[in-house]
Amino acid sequence: MRANDWGGSTGRRRRLTGAAERRQFEARGGEAPPNLFMSKNIFEKIIAREIPADIVYEDELVLAFRDINPMAPTHVLIVPKKSIARLSEAGAEDEKLLGHLLLKAGEVARQLGLDKGGYRLVINNGKDGGESVPHLHCHLLGGRSLAWPPG
Ligand code: 5GP
Repeated sequence: MRANDWGGSTGRRRRLTGAAERRQFEARGGEAPPNLFMSKNIFEKIIAREIPADIVYEDELVLAFRDINPMAPTHVLIVPKKSIARLSEAGAEDEKLLGHLLLKAGEVARQLGLDKGGYRLVINNGKDGGESVPHLHCHLLGGRSLAWPPG
């Protein structure tokens, strides 16, 4: 369990825990101490309503809530309720879910009035991608003109 142990949103490094990591471990046939899997990551806690979030959309498959540290006037995270650590961990069985997530991101953008001006969807994958929370999520950013290329 070395390659994927980057830290949470505070930048603090920590060991990965939670359902997504359990799935990775099991997929690799790995062994792990039982207490490795006891805690949820921050998005799993939001999905479970263990910590609050400003929720803008929910259905049986996805949850969308405002980012706690917005990078644009509108900054929403759309997350699958299923624990998938990141896009590179998704499989063929997630095809419908990922399509649903993108369609709902577009719906949320419309609902929040971003259609006219435009918006950006971003998925950060892994360390070089800037991922800080190991639960797949799509950033919806809008409400201002966004520069390209990203940093
Ligand atoms: P990443 O860097 O993994 O692509 O995006 C993670 C995002 O989650 C960051 O934009 C960060 O601000 C946001 N975030 C981290 N912790 C929380 C939280 O507790 N609540 C909310 N609403 N957003 C969070």
